[in-house]
Amino acid sequence: MITGATSGIGKATASLFAEKGYRVIITGRRRERLDLFRSQLTEQFEAEVMPLTFDVRSEQECEAALHQLSGQWAEIDILINNAGKAKGLAPVHEGELRHWEEMIDTNLKGLLYMTRLVAPGMVARGTGHIINVCSTAGKEAYPNGNVYNATKFGVDGLTKAMRMDLHKHGVRVGMVSPAHVEETEFALVRFDGDESRARIYEDFKPLASHDVAESIYFIVNQPAHVNILDVVLQGTQQASSTIIDRSG
Ligand code: NDP
Repeated sequence: MITGATSGIGKATASLFAEKGYRVIITGRRRERLDLFRSQLTEQFEAEVMPLTFDVRSEQECEAALHQLSGQWAEIDILINNAGKAKGLAPVHEGELRHWEEMIDTNLKGLLYMTRLVAPGMVARGTGHIINVCSTAGKEAYPNGNVYNATKFGVDGLTKAMRMDLHKHGVRVGMVSPAHVEETEFALVRFDGDESRARIYEDFKPLASHDVAESIYFIVNQPAHVNILDVVLQGTQQASSTIIDRSG
């Protein structure tokens, strides 16, 4: 199960896993995109794909969506908590509260709701793997990053704590922490669709969404006794959140 599979990293990850023969549950709020993506994956890879439309910010919607699953679909082996976002880029004394609420509700509470619903089945079966999509923003704060930084530092902390709770039940918990990733709607969403402000990936080569997908696939495909805790990755031209070689 990959949350936030209608675009960007989640979509690239679902595509890679479908190509490799996994049955994938793709989720997001945009139903039309999920249906189209499902048809593409079925046609291209003959993949078995289950789309689920819901908002991770709603505990009720998460629960109702999970309850639609039956048989083997209900036995989720791998949960990739990817749905997330940044909203705005303002100093803390000027930030918009609605942006803060949206980031906290999606990046932290959504991840928790999904984990709370899926992890019990993994514990009961004594096996499972949960991967949280963090960010280098969860390792290093940057100017005006404030609440986005806080949510991703939170994801880092939760990943460590979840592992302590779940390791004794045969459930692996890991994380992937990318820096700038293109082929996503991340910047467009952050700046409310303002394309001029969203051009943060110009003049250098950032990571592509499939680079992150490959890291997730690598984490999942280790022998059962190996748990990769975190993969931190950034483009070669990037040295930190703010230091980027934009010479072309
Ligand atoms: P995109 O905006 O391209 O994708 C975000 C996905 O999350 C979409 O599929 C979206 O689907 C889904 N989503 C957003 N809000 C909700 C919600 N409330 N309920 C359900 N699904 C939701 O961005 P990315 O692929 O870049 O982002 C994926 C993850 O990667 C995020 O956690 C982000 O913080 C992280 N990340 C991104 C980086 C980047 O530079 N791009 C760098 C480091 C980390 P829909 O709108 O259909 O609901």
